[in-house]
Amino acid sequence: MKAALIDLKTERNRRIPNPDQIIIAGAGIAGLALALALSEKGFSVQIFEKSATLAEIGAGLQVSPNATRLLARLGVLERLKYASVEPQAICLQDGTSGEKLLHLPIGNAAKERWGAPYLVCHRADLQNALLTEARSRSNIAVQLQSTVTHHKGDSEGVLVRVQYHDRIEEHRGALLVGADGVWSNMRTAMSDAERARYTGTIAWRSSIAVDQLPGSFNALLPQGTNVVAWTGANAHLIAYPIRSGQMINFVAVALDRQNGRRWDAPTNPENVSQNFIREFASWHQGIRDVMRAGRPWTPWRLFEMKKCRFHVEDRVVLIGDAAHAMTPYAAQGAAMAIEDGFTLAEALTIDAATWPSALDEFSKVRTKRIAAVARRGALNHLAYHAKGPIALARNIVLRKRPVDKFVKGFDWLYGFDAGKHMEG
Ligand SMILES: Cc1cc2nc3c(=O)[nH]c(=O)nc-3n(C[C@H](O)[C@H](O)[C@H](O)COP(=O)(O)OP(=O)(O)OC[C@H]3O[C@@H](n4cnc5c(N)ncnc54)[C@H](O)[C@@H]3O)c2cc1C
Repeated sequence: MKAALIDLKTERNRRIPNPDQIIIAGAGIAGLALALALSEKGFSVQIFEKSATLAEIGAGLQVSPNATRLLARLGVLERLKYASVEPQAICLQDGTSGEKLLHLPIGNAAKERWGAPYLVCHRADLQNALLTEARSRSNIAVQLQSTVTHHKGDSEGVLVRVQYHDRIEEHRGALLVGADGVWSNMRTAMSDAERARYTGTIAWRSSIAVDQLPGSFNALLPQGTNVVAWTGANAHLIAYPIRSGQMINFVAVALDRQNGRRWDAPTNPENVSQNFIREFASWHQGIRDVMRAGRPWTPWRLFEMKKCRFHVEDRVVLIGDAAHAMTPYAAQGAAMAIEDGFTLAEALTIDAATWPSALDEFSKVRTKRIAAVARRGALNHLAYHAKGPIALARNIVLRKRPVDKFVKGFDWLYGFDAGKHMEG
């Protein structure tokens, strides 16, 4: 949808914006986290969300300590803990032989080393925890079935047009934040902004009740409650518990051999699903069995943006996937969305007249962080999907390198406190 200019000359629209009123497009992870962070700072927040309900979208999420420390401050962590699981370790195994390659303790280690827990949960449980907290705050209003269609900013504020059922509403705020996800209208409306690009890979998602898992797969699992990743040529599979441990969430990432780089090619879901399962034909029996048990597998085409774009205009800013959609190899998209929200709220706690420069600084700080996380994701991609001699070398490194070196290698990522980084 193309952004249209809004006529600011009418008397109604010339109203002075409330300097404390922030408008957010999208009640996903980024939008809700930002709303809570702003509410803590005393702002009043209006969120418009185009969906009629916020439920069951997506699948499992790993929520690392850099995000859970912020969720704790937003009053959301305790609520999330009921529905989530704290895994004891992250384990890497060879997808063909089943051989164990790495066992990284993450349970107590996360709290002791990084000061916050490592959790796994369903995306809907995280979103519900954020939403319930947002609804309990008197300075946050969430309006569903409301699509932000246009906006017009000036040096003092922004006028936002919202489609609510068959009605068009106009709202004036001091700032508009686009937290409208990978398909962000606000981003695509900018002529010079990079669009999210299809990576030619698909994440297949499924979940299976713990008591329905095939025995051959159970035999492959390490002892305890863990996040387990199996590596293979051009593909990997990740499994971890969700829904208080009653279900196992699976994400299998493989090349889209049918459509190559065309994400919009028409597909027959049954054929595509068959082809996907064939990708794992030479993998360990336990994995082949779980692939068959896991139907339906839901495809999720993976998109990414090579360049972040946060600060759009004086009074318009993007966060979350709208600013920097990334591939899931570092399991950090939602964590980055939460960090963005937290840091943005910090940036705005100064005189509104200096917001443009504060937003430039915010953009600089977050661009640096996102670039580092994207590099880690690219490295994980190489490591997970390696084949031939590179896979052999990877396995040797994983087996031989002391575990504490791996743990230390996560300090910059999981030890990060987004509430303290406006100074860079
Ligand atoms: C396979 C896979 C696995 C992943 N695993 C992990 C993981 O383990 N850990 C992790 O941290 N991240 C993970 N991610 C990434 C994570 O899911 C996303 O980065 C995160 O959900 C982005 O949040 P967001 O709020 O920016 O966008 P979204 O969650 O997409 O929210 C955007 C919201 O905006 C609404 N909206 C859109 N347009 C408008 C409009 N015009 N007006 C009003 N509302 C609008 C949408 O309806 C939606 O509710 C994974 C992603 C994938 C694909």
